[in-house]
Amino acid sequence: MPPSYDYIITGAGCAGLSLLMRLLQEPALQQKKILVIDQDTKTSNDRTWCFWEASPGLFEPIVHHRWQQFRFAAPDMERAFSIAPYQYKMIRGIDFYAYVRNYCAQFANLTFVHATVHHWRNEQDGATVETDKGIFTGDYVFNSIIDAAHLPPKNFKGYFLWQHFKGKIIQTQQPVFDAEKATFMDFTVSQHNGTAFMYVLPFSNNTALVEFTLFTEQLLTAESYDAAIDAYLQEKHGVDNYEVLHEEFGKIPMTNYRFATPDGHIIPIGIAGGQAKGSSGYAFYFIQQQTAAIANSLVQRGHPILSVSWQQRKFRWFDSVLLRVLQQQLMPGHAIFSAIFKHNAPAAILRFLNNESSIQEDLQIMRSVPMHIFLPAALHTAIFRK
Ligand SMILES: Cc1cc2nc3c(=O)[nH]c(=O)nc-3n(C[C@H](O)[C@H](O)[C@H](O)COP(=O)(O)OP(=O)(O)OC[C@H]3O[C@@H](n4cnc5c(N)ncnc54)[C@H](O)[C@@H]3O)c2cc1C
Repeated sequence: MPPSYDYIITGAGCAGLSLLMRLLQEPALQQKKILVIDQDTKTSNDRTWCFWEASPGLFEPIVHHRWQQFRFAAPDMERAFSIAPYQYKMIRGIDFYAYVRNYCAQFANLTFVHATVHHWRNEQDGATVETDKGIFTGDYVFNSIIDAAHLPPKNFKGYFLWQHFKGKIIQTQQPVFDAEKATFMDFTVSQHNGTAFMYVLPFSNNTALVEFTLFTEQLLTAESYDAAIDAYLQEKHGVDNYEVLHEEFGKIPMTNYRFATPDGHIIPIGIAGGQAKGSSGYAFYFIQQQTAAIANSLVQRGHPILSVSWQQRKFRWFDSVLLRVLQQQLMPGHAIFSAIFKHNAPAAILRFLNNESSIQEDLQIMRSVPMHIFLPAALHTAIFRK
């Protein structure tokens, strides 16, 4: 008989460890026998997560930096604004992994296995996970592992773009940054490859995370990201030399593809569970919502299956519409975001991007983009469900 657990979490990244933390917050669940499997040791700073929220979250103690003001720039506008009641928060991967590990040390009912998962199988009373270190069974398996090498899936007829980016934390000799303002999007860079912008998060007047980001079907060569960052620093800040303190590269699927839905006792979470927002690639905030809802459902209803709300369906539709407009190149990405930032209150835009806006705010945001482009796209995605 394979070793048996109440819950098995496959993938100890953002979603797996967020879920673990949330299970351990619940007195009714914190004694459950839980197995966590990952092929990585999670001891490097493999990514930084940023997100906005209006109140303190579960990971507040490890917020590395926060900003209260945004800057948005496009060829036809530039705007700096307060994002109250939100704060834009940054959490470093390395702090997140260490924080969860330390927190878990007090629980004897947790097992961590360093292994590669090959297969998941539903059984009558639970599910089985096959790894290179053995087979394990659990009442429920929460899976956050995706087969990124095979994306987009063959024959997928919906929309699929990569949000891909290279970021560097740099230190300059001269003070060149405004440490109070996070540049959320600066579209005043070449749009030659498709929708592209610079994202600048200053920690002080001479250190910042500078990230070149694109929403396109194809990735660029490694040198192209560096060249774009160098050109930007030169042109906007007069910086020729800088020291690189950290680098990261990421690609996040922006798609209306449904990776998986709950299947018997196997519950997809994180990006595998559709938590990367199709039209922005942001996932951290949605992962927190999903994992909190799963823990709550286990306590309240005794199972982790969540129903899809009307609100969630609505935002999926909006995401598909924007993806259609971007992928079919019906309107340049910078012009869409510029129209939205020109005509809407910052907090309403952030609520919209967090899937939390009211119908009135949705309508106002829709009114700010050209109807002759977005209405046919909305009808198309509603009728053909893609
Ligand atoms: C560099 C980077 C920066 C990002 N920044 C932001 C941001 O600022 N804001 C935001 O909202 N989102 C951001 N994202 C998107 C998203 O939040 C992250 O990708 C997030 O980590 C997704 O969480 P996850 O749990 O779904 O996947 P992951 O965190 O990637 O976790 C999956 C885990 O599965 C493990 N694994 C994979 N295959 C196997 C296998 N076969 N066997 C065993 N283990 C396996 C991996 O080692 C990993 O630990 C970023 C993504 C990247 C890559």
